[in-house]
Amino acid sequence: MNTVFVDSGEKARRKELRNAYKEQQRVAAWNALGLDRAELDALYDWLDERLGAQGCDHSVRLTEVWATERDMDWPTLREALGDAGGYCDCEVLANTDPDQTA
Ligand SMILES: [Zn+2]
Repeated sequence: MNTVFVDSGEKARRKELRNAYKEQQRVAAWNALGLDRAELDALYDWLDERLGAQGCDHSVRLTEVWATERDMDWPTLREALGDAGGYCDCEVLANTDPDQTA
C-alpha cells in the first residue's frame, strides 16, 4: 500500500465526517429556527426593505413585528436567532441563515 494513497483516503474520510457534521449542524439550526426556507427568505426581504429605509436601532424590533404579525412563537424564534448571532435586526439579516454558516 502506498503512503500517498493512504493519506488521501484519510483526508477524504475526514472531509466526509466534516461534511456530515456540517449537515447535522445545518439541520439542527433549521429545526431550532422553526422556519422554512421560504419563510426565512420572506423575513430577510422584509428586514432588508425596512433596514434600508430606517437603519438598525440595535434591537430585534423589526424581526419581532414580522414574527408577531405572522403569529409565530416569538420567544423561541428570538432565542434561536440569538444563538445564531442575530442580536439585532441587521445581525439577523447577516448571521442567521442556516444554509450560509461556514
Ligand atoms: Zn444591528
